[in-house]
Amino acid sequence: MKLYRIKKSKIDNKGRGLYATKNIRSGTKIINYKGKIITNKQLDRSDKYDNGKPIYLFTLNNRYTLDGDFSWNIAGLVNHSCNPNSEYEGKGFKVWITAIKDIKQGEEITCDYGFSFDKDYKQFPCNCNSINCCGYIVQEVSRWRINKKFAMSNKKNLINNSR
Ligand SMILES: [Zn+2]
Repeated sequence: MKLYRIKKSKIDNKGRGLYATKNIRSGTKIINYKGKIITNKQLDRSDKYDNGKPIYLFTLNNRYTLDGDFSWNIAGLVNHSCNPNSEYEGKGFKVWITAIKDIKQGEEITCDYGFSFDKDYKQFPCNCNSINCCGYIVQEVSRWRINKKFAMSNKKNLINNSR
């Protein structure tokens, strides 16, 4: 039995997400993130990757990137959360979505997309509704730039990067 099923998502109200079909222990590989392996040179040349956000892209090493932007990549349906229960785990040429917390049956499977903070961050609002949601899809270490309330938990970053 698969550990996930596809369902209309509560986070992405226009889209779908993956939901746990049973309790999943932290550390479990949930689903293989599939895609096409492209060279970083192809990546630089292609218009497809113009928008600057690596939504479905994973750098595998200094030569290759995995492009998961295909409808057959079921793992591409996993939504971002500011308080995720899973993470992308790369090993060689494979990327897995692996639980980082115990996940209860029926819970949506979520990851931190790890977007860096830039001037376009407002293009990607976040509706994850978690207590620490900063309103936009931005990686954890950069959230203080959007909302001061995150500054306290990232004092080190604040000191290093505020000017
Ligand atoms: Zn959020």
